[in-house]
Amino acid sequence: MDNGLILLIEDEPQMLRFLRITIKGHHYRLIEAETAKDGLVQAAMRNPDVILLDLGLPDMDGIEVIRQLRSWCDTAVIVISAREQDEDKIRALDMGADDYLTKPFSAGELLARIRVAMRRKTPMQQADHIFTVCDMKVNLATRQVFINDVETHLTPIEYSLLTVLIKNAGKVVTHSQLLKEVWGANYANQTQYLRVYMAQLRRKLESTPARPKFLINEPAIGYRLKL
Ligand code: CA
Repeated sequence: MDNGLILLIEDEPQMLRFLRITIKGHHYRLIEAETAKDGLVQAAMRNPDVILLDLGLPDMDGIEVIRQLRSWCDTAVIVISAREQDEDKIRALDMGADDYLTKPFSAGELLARIRVAMRRKTPMQQADHIFTVCDMKVNLATRQVFINDVETHLTPIEYSLLTVLIKNAGKVVTHSQLLKEVWGANYANQTQYLRVYMAQLRRKLESTPARPKFLINEPAIGYRLKL
């Protein structure tokens, strides 16, 4: 059984041990790198399915590692960060990381994020351009949205917001990414727009808007369309 190839870039021995046991115990193949430089070399040589990246590395800032990776590869990157690195977390996501885990995290949480990253590869390329989650079905070719097979009308902005989340399904999209893609670069700080429109989307798409099943809020960071 082989669930895929994971590249782990991490320098703390204890963390390394925990991750090694968890990952190998669940039938993933593992490559380890303890420096950013070695990590970048391994990413190029071995072409992993998912990269787990610690932000605090001895030879290079993790954000810089993401920037270099993204110049030539689109492999899913899950950032592992310490709690005090909240700002860095947002910068990492803006730079093209797919997801993050805050230390300490459980093995179950890590494995769930890895499964999403492995599966996420190309949600936009699903057959017939149909995207489905919970009771919602979106036809990306005709721009129609259905809840329990009944068509629901979305305004152009609501639809655009939804498609950015679908395009990034499973991963966190930061407030500024969403604002830039939907409203434009000048609106990157208008987070109140997002609150209003996300509330509207939830009212239209979620069966229990107060306890959303798939339009998930990531406090202080952004939103995630949960698969
Ligand atoms: Ca470290």
